[in-house]
Amino acid sequence: MSDTAVSAAATVIDGKAFAQGLRGRVAAAVETLKRDHGLTPGLAVVLVGEDPASQVYVRSKGKQTVEAGMNSYEHRLPETTSQDALLAKVAELNADPAVHGILVQLPLPAQIDAQTVIAAIDPNKDVDGFHVINAGRLMTGATGAAAPLVPCTPLGCLMLLKHHLGNLSGLDAVVVGRSNIVGKPMGQLLLAESCTVTTAHSRTRDLPAVCRRADILVAAVGRPEMIRGDWVKPGATVIDVGINRIDPAGDASGGGKSRLVGDVAYDEAVAVAGAITPVPGGVGPMTIACLLANTVTAACRAQGLTPPDLGAG
Ligand code: NDP
Repeated sequence: MSDTAVSAAATVIDGKAFAQGLRGRVAAAVETLKRDHGLTPGLAVVLVGEDPASQVYVRSKGKQTVEAGMNSYEHRLPETTSQDALLAKVAELNADPAVHGILVQLPLPAQIDAQTVIAAIDPNKDVDGFHVINAGRLMTGATGAAAPLVPCTPLGCLMLLKHHLGNLSGLDAVVVGRSNIVGKPMGQLLLAESCTVTTAHSRTRDLPAVCRRADILVAAVGRPEMIRGDWVKPGATVIDVGINRIDPAGDASGGGKSRLVGDVAYDEAVAVAGAITPVPGGVGPMTIACLLANTVTAACRAQGLTPPDLGAG
C-alpha cells in the first residue's frame, strides 16, 4: 500500500487500501491453513432483532468472511429473543469445533444484558476482544498461547500507525475517549508499544492543550469535527475513529444529503498534521478486516498453531 500526499502538510493514510491488503493476507493465510492443515476458519455472527445498521454490518461481515475463503455462519434471532435463549445459542457455538470466532452484534434489545452475553462467549473464540479475559490479557501483556484477542477497531488503528510510523517507542500518544471497545484498548496497545499514553475524556481539563502535546492523536469521541486544527501539534499523526452522519447544514433534521464526518475537523487538521486518516476511508474499513484476521488467529490457536503476523503491511 502507498500513502497518498494530498496537501503540503499531511499524508493521507489510506485505510481502505491497507484493509484491502490485509484481507488479501488473510485470504492467503486461509489458503495455507486449508492446504497444510485441513483447517477452514469459521466465523459465527449472531444478530438479534432488525436494527438496520446492524443488518448492514452483519451482511458485510458475512460477505467478506466468505471472500476470504472462510466459513460464515449467520444466526438471526427475533427482536423478542430472551437472554436465556441467546445464552443457549452462544453455548451451542462455544461447543461447535467448526466455529473459531463468535461475534454477537451490538446493540442488543433491552431485555438482554450485553455484558452477561459477552461473558458467556468462550474467550478463545471472542474475536471482538470484548471479554474481560481478553481485556485482562491485553492489560497484562500476555503473550503466546495466552495472548489476547484484541478489539478490532483499535487493532486496525495500531496497524495503520505502525505501517506509517514504524517504531512508536517513546512517542507521546493522546487517546480522546475511554470506551471499552475503542479508547481503553487503544491506550493499552499504545502503552505496549512504549508510547507515553494520555487518555482524555469528557472531564479532561483544557483538552486542546492536552491534544497539542500528542505525536499520535487518536480521536474516538462520537462528536462531529470536535477536534480542531489548532489542537493538533504540527507534524502529528492523527487517527480519526469517529463516524458521524450529519446533513450539509450540520443539523440532524435530515434535510439535504447527509455525509459522514469524523471527530476531527479534517480540512483544518490536514493542513497541520504530518499524517491523518480520512473519514470515510480511514479507520472504518479496518474494523472488519481485523475481525477476519482475529478469526484466523483464533483458528490457529485452537489447533495449537502459531498465528501468522497479518498486520505488517
Ligand atoms: P462512546 O460513546 O462509547 O465513548 C465516547 C468517549 O468520548 C467517552 O469516553 C466520552 O467521555 C468521550 N467524550 C464524549 N464527549 C467528549 C468531549 N466533549 N470531550 C472529550 N471526550 C468526550 O463511543 P465509542 O468509543 O464507541 O465510539 C467513538 C466514535 O468512534 C464514534 O463516532 C463511533 O461511531 C466511532 N466508532 C467507529 C468504529 C469504526 O469501525 N471505525 C468502531 C467503533 C466506534 P466519558 O467517558 O467521560 O463520557
